[in-house]
Amino acid sequence: MFVYKQKDGLEYLISTVLEPHIKHCFTTRKGGVSENKYASLNFRFRCGDPIENVRENVKKISEACGFNGVNTVTACQTHGSSVKTVTVDDCGKGVWKHSDIEDADAIITNVKKLPLMGFFADCPLVLIYDMKNKAAASVHCGWRSASEDIITKALNEMKKIFNTDTADVIAAVGPSIQRDCFEVGDDVKRAFSSNIGAWTEKYFTAAKNDGKYMCGLQSILKVQMEQNGIKSVNTDICEECMVCSHERFFSHRYTKGNRGVNAAIIQID
Ligand SMILES: [Zn+2]
Repeated sequence: MFVYKQKDGLEYLISTVLEPHIKHCFTTRKGGVSENKYASLNFRFRCGDPIENVRENVKKISEACGFNGVNTVTACQTHGSSVKTVTVDDCGKGVWKHSDIEDADAIITNVKKLPLMGFFADCPLVLIYDMKNKAAASVHCGWRSASEDIITKALNEMKKIFNTDTADVIAAVGPSIQRDCFEVGDDVKRAFSSNIGAWTEKYFTAAKNDGKYMCGLQSILKVQMEQNGIKSVNTDICEECMVCSHERFFSHRYTKGNRGVNAAIIQID
């Protein structure tokens, strides 16, 4: 289950599955310093919002949630399926200094006090935590990445680097575009069917528009996580739709891309 929290004027979501074990949040638009189309809690760098504003927003959410904001690491998300392991050498990259992590929709770490920050505006952002080996991941799961099986790639990398056993893993899928708003073309359905499996087809239902489908991406992600050995009770799916709740979140579809981004942050203590 996901619950809203308010602190210092900010509003964010936390997952009750993650909360007892790991510090994290999924932000809304509320409580930041950015203006106009970026109002107000924007985390999109390299756009029209002055970098001082975005950095101030990182400071604000870090203070509210108890993250070590100066260490926050972000990567350039490209809707691919590359996974990058983040170490102490990466502290502050993408927020306080230049990031050379150019193409990584998934970032993983076992470094304490190093917040991983992923961005989302409609795409599901999945936060993952290995409770036994104390390793965390931020995985940006738009349909392109999900159809390239980024979930399995991230979990396999955690197995390789941190000796993760998925029986010890908890995972939360944040707010995202839900099936009733997520109309896609046949290409999306075919990408999942050929790369992931025919079982995904049942999560595509016929849309009102000819040749289009409504895609239940969150349901596919849940199955992908369970096929990897994550227990159903250890997964948490937020049912809030970012397009319907576009005043609360930055929605890519609703704004036609003219927008800021929300952030999901996870930190091992
Ligand atoms: Zn909706």
